[in-house]
Amino acid sequence: LFEYAPAPESRSVVDLKPSYGLFVDGEFADGSAGTFKSVNPATEEVLAEVALADAADVDRAVAAARRAYDEVWSRLPGRERAKYLFRIARIIQERARELAVLESLDNGKPIRESRDVDIPLAAAHFFYYAGWADKLPHANLGPDPKPLGVAGQVIPWNFPLLMLAWKVAPALACGNTVVLKPAETTPLTALLFAEICQQADLPPGVVNILTGAGATGAALVAHPGVDKVAFTGSTEVGRQIAKQVAGTSKKVTLELGGKAANLVFDDAPLEQAIEGIVDGIFFNQGHVCCAGSRLLVQESVAEEVVDRLRERMRTLRVGDPLDKNTDIGAINSAEQLARIRTLTEAGEAEGATRWSPPCELPERGFFFAPTVFTGVSQAHRIAREEIFGPVLSVLTFRTPAEAVEKANNTAYGLSAGVWTDKGSRILWLAQRMRAGVVWANTFNRFDPTSPFGGYKESGYGREGGRHGLEAYLDV
Ligand code: NAD
Repeated sequence: LFEYAPAPESRSVVDLKPSYGLFVDGEFADGSAGTFKSVNPATEEVLAEVALADAADVDRAVAAARRAYDEVWSRLPGRERAKYLFRIARIIQERARELAVLESLDNGKPIRESRDVDIPLAAAHFFYYAGWADKLPHANLGPDPKPLGVAGQVIPWNFPLLMLAWKVAPALACGNTVVLKPAETTPLTALLFAEICQQADLPPGVVNILTGAGATGAALVAHPGVDKVAFTGSTEVGRQIAKQVAGTSKKVTLELGGKAANLVFDDAPLEQAIEGIVDGIFFNQGHVCCAGSRLLVQESVAEEVVDRLRERMRTLRVGDPLDKNTDIGAINSAEQLARIRTLTEAGEAEGATRWSPPCELPERGFFFAPTVFTGVSQAHRIAREEIFGPVLSVLTFRTPAEAVEKANNTAYGLSAGVWTDKGSRILWLAQRMRAGVVWANTFNRFDPTSPFGGYKESGYGREGGRHGLEAYLDV
């Protein structure tokens, strides 16, 4: 499909403005706390100045969302809300190219991924939840479920538009209004989404976007006018948020970190498994909460798997996110790059063996070569902590029971993968692994119809599917 695609995707499809305001009550406005810069991580150039929201802006946005909830949105019949959501979904499709290029500029992810994964899935989410808006009494949640009110939503930088869609689509379908805060390093597609809301004639105040950093998110979570908090991000911040809302009437869902095990058995279709391992850890530079960052290989095939994996890694192209041939783009920020370096240095210091294929990294921008560690023990930091980068830790096992024990030996429980030819083994493992999703002979498959979320310190609540409605309804 991509054989003849040498030219970089042109950034000229994006009408990048020098500065962006907050989106409150259907209009763009300056922030009360000045501005901050959004940077292209592949070049380190400033893309735009973005309004910085503070507590006063949170007040205005929550008031607008409340008014829109009381006067318009919660009173609309579901089929009317559905019309807006279908319209938004179609506009996302129509403006897909612009959204994809902007996402790759702001986030650093390869254009092939934003074009083929992030943007189509964001549209799919709106289509899917649009379909639910007039069928809520049939969601198996009780005869007459009611929206909660104003949702305060805080999202991370790894899938900016897609995480927005996961949050906004079910909230609106159920009749809630939202105030959403995108991550500080990737605010631009959320602001383009605000434009899309205007284009869809969404009533003012139904969606409000507040750009800013952690303090803006904390002010939103703390606001007494917020009825529901939905957060995706690190376990550390998730913990703070859980404490912050404890003892209030706010409902919370938390989608947090992960340290997924990807299990390869000796009867696995190895060629397919190698592709799954590569996709599991190098997709989106490994900035994926459910990344297959711990490869557990059965001892008898460990050497062969690692050899074949290294051969495959030699073909990965690291570089310009807008080049359609790029497999691994830029690390999202200097801070994230520093964090990856710290953990990989710890891996070496603790005695694991590090390997990367020879690859020339661009001189400017934040880049990191795909890396694999062998000789990793369960006690090593690189086997326990979320690296959130293109770094794989390889461990081995002998029996299925040992595989399960090692897979579950983590504070997290978001996802896992199994590669084997035996169907019965897949079911046996899936029942025993403490992970919200278990993929078999595939990895990183997402679908709006399927609930997603964590066990243990990966959070609570589910997004996607019918279960995703529960977080936004009272029954
Ligand atoms: P982060 O927790 O640092 O930030 C996430 C968001 O929270 C940002 O918008 C940030 O500004 C905001 N924030 C920071 N401090 C806050 C506070 N005290 N109160 C309220 N908001 C605050 O995480 P990140 O580095 O942006 O994202 C990476 C993390 O997200 C990883 O741990 C990853 O696993 C996780 N993640 C989880 C899922 C999932 O579905 N489980 C999906 C994507 C990412």
